[in-house]
Amino acid sequence: MRRSILLAVLLLSPLHAQQAPSSIPGLLIRGGTVYDGTGQPGLRADVRTRGDLIVEIGASLPAGAGERVVDASGLAVAPGFIDVHNHSDHALDAETGAAPLLQQGITTLLVGQDGSSDLPVASFMDRIDALHPAINLATSVGHGTVRQVVLGADYKRPATETEIAVMKALVERGMRDGALGLSSGLEYDPGFYATTAELVALAEVAARFGGFYSSHVRDEENEFLKAWREAIEIGKRAHIPVEISHMKAASRPVWGQAPAGLALVDAAVRDGVSVVGDWYPYTYWHSSIYVLIPDRDFENRQKWQLGLDEIGGASHVLIASFKPDPSLVGKTLDQIAQARRVDPAQLVIDLVHEAGPDFGVIVTAMIEDDLRAILKHPRTIICSDGSITGRHPRGYGAFPRVLGRYVREEHVLPLEEALAKMTSRSARQIGLHDRGELAVGKKADIVIFDPATIGDRGTPEDPSLAPVGVEDVVVNGELVLSGGQVTAARPGRALRRQDAPRPAAGSTSHGTNGS
Ligand SMILES: [Zn+2]
Repeated sequence: MRRSILLAVLLLSPLHAQQAPSSIPGLLIRGGTVYDGTGQPGLRADVRTRGDLIVEIGASLPAGAGERVVDASGLAVAPGFIDVHNHSDHALDAETGAAPLLQQGITTLLVGQDGSSDLPVASFMDRIDALHPAINLATSVGHGTVRQVVLGADYKRPATETEIAVMKALVERGMRDGALGLSSGLEYDPGFYATTAELVALAEVAARFGGFYSSHVRDEENEFLKAWREAIEIGKRAHIPVEISHMKAASRPVWGQAPAGLALVDAAVRDGVSVVGDWYPYTYWHSSIYVLIPDRDFENRQKWQLGLDEIGGASHVLIASFKPDPSLVGKTLDQIAQARRVDPAQLVIDLVHEAGPDFGVIVTAMIEDDLRAILKHPRTIICSDGSITGRHPRGYGAFPRVLGRYVREEHVLPLEEALAKMTSRSARQIGLHDRGELAVGKKADIVIFDPATIGDRGTPEDPSLAPVGVEDVVVNGELVLSGGQVTAARPGRALRRQDAPRPAAGSTSHGTNGS
């Protein structure tokens, strides 16, 4: 009797689950130029994996019995890319193969962005594990979601002390369940109405668990510097590392001011606050039309006119979603205004009457000089801010676009530096200490790509065109993309904050924002 109980315990124990990966055939990746992800230049070497780990890196390694050899001659071999700001929270349900992510070389996603996450976090984690996607997912706990749970429909005001105490308990629960950090979206409801003090109080909780605070800041346009200062202040007061989400200077009056923002980051770092920014490589954003009017005075024609002038005019606004009339999708405000014979500011008011203020638009509002300044800065890391079901090409090509356009064609920064911004620095920022480097003992998340051809192809008109140049991708020791084709392997996992326990029940889902 005792023996059978012992056997059952052994069979059900986590130890048993941990042993499973050793049945994965080892890989020998031969003949490539290996970039370890730390910013060091590439070296010719072979890489051996066993189970879900990298076990050997060296010159001319002989193939072992039963090992699968992957020919990487002429190709670059790097740690799998970590997308630190992605909106595919639920998109993998319908596509566990995650092709648009693997084709970019992405092996881990951080979701729960811009203040919006699933709660309880434990249920989300369990759901991902049950789903068996091709790639790994981690999540932040969303400040907006927590605020929504506590304040309900009555959210257009500061929270009371009691409400903040309950929100703190929910953030603590999320961190205990394995969330990596706390995210906020202060341009969106209900985060818009939070005070700095409320955010500091919640960030202090995430800090106690070794988490970080990431923020879609209050204003990405005329007042972006003020908004970055608030994020830095929260980091300083709550003693927590800060990540400014999808850094941008997105209106004409602040074009050229990205270096001034980056100087704020440098000053904060000198002052002892850990600040990074994440960034995606496009001059156009995707969000709701209402972010063009910071004070939400939606009936005010003059304010819409000013908002449109400041992003360069109505021709810069492409409709990405419009429920009452999907035929408008893909047209610019300028084109629609001409067809309807109204001026663009009046048109926006009409469209808001038809669809409400949160219909989706893709707005070209950034300039290349600011993009390059942000990319080059040592405190920035790469994200897509995309979704594999999104209307913005960033969800399908952000990482190849950095390596093709900005590294190979424009020489904005060396390949090894760009790779560090997609791997080791991202892993360090979000606290995934066993990933992001190609080194013995690290998890075998690996991308093999051709630096001579890698690039994106999506456009605002045809966003989901697949990128080129990524040949093979390994997740947790298994080939998930081979010769550019998705395989049947689904080795992805929910990645919990590393000392978090597992379990839980009952899930509520929420929508996601973007920008
Ligand atoms: Zn955002």
